[in-house]
Amino acid sequence: MRRLSLGALLLLLTACSPNGCSQDAAAPPLKAGPPAPVSTDPAPAPGETASAPMPDPAPEPEAPPAPEPATWPHDPGGALPPGSGAGATDATIWAAGMRFPMEAGPAYANSQVYGYGGYAAPGPGGQCDARNYAYPWRDNFCETRSWTNGMCPAGRGHQGQDIRPATCEKKVHWIVAAESGRITSIGSYTVSLLGDSGRIYRYLHLDMAGVNALFPTMDSRNVERGQQIGKVSADFGGNATTIHLHFEIKAPVSIGGSPASVNFVPTYTSLVDSYGRLLNGAG
Ligand SMILES: [Zn+2]
Repeated sequence: MRRLSLGALLLLLTACSPNGCSQDAAAPPLKAGPPAPVSTDPAPAPGETASAPMPDPAPEPEAPPAPEPATWPHDPGGALPPGSGAGATDATIWAAGMRFPMEAGPAYANSQVYGYGGYAAPGPGGQCDARNYAYPWRDNFCETRSWTNGMCPAGRGHQGQDIRPATCEKKVHWIVAAESGRITSIGSYTVSLLGDSGRIYRYLHLDMAGVNALFPTMDSRNVERGQQIGKVSADFGGNATTIHLHFEIKAPVSIGGSPASVNFVPTYTSLVDSYGRLLNGAG
């Protein structure tokens, strides 16, 4: 409660008219000495001390502004380049929270076959053409292939997403574990990671000699989310492909009403989700 000063008390006891103000003669004379406290707080009980007056509430600390959602040009999931197949339109993020599989950006999700330098390229140009190393991102999970892919309209398709690293160079750009788990196999061009969630991540075309050097024994193959597991290259079991990561996610899913079984699931939405976090510095 606000305490009134002596001056304020005097003003309260002063009557005013249009001609001015004068002290009300009817008012009792003021006593000299300090004014009586006007607080109505009860007196503290014996042995207690009076509580301090309540301070004004502190202003709410201002929350730091939420980071702007990172964005970059990317086509929606399922929007494949014309003539390259019919894409899945499933918007599910099948691996919510996963780490983007390249350690650093920028990275370019697009087709190796239907991009420059591929055998169905839109025009002349090599795999290192600057147009391949540019946005927008494009989904190619359902790109035309003869491989079984139950999540695609055709029942067949590419099974994964192709991603080019920041530059057109082998053995430079690190690949990392999408989640904590265990590397269950290292083939001639495929690394399989069984995540703690039960999902399986498959990384193709790494520098396989480098992968084997990092994980020489079965005891060495438990990995943490974000741990380096190899570098982007073009290994293809004795042949070569273009410099890129082919990335797959497998998870239990029911297709066409059948009991759930482990299948390739659309990859693009999880990559968009995780790349946005990477660009925001959240990893
Ligand atoms: Zn591929």
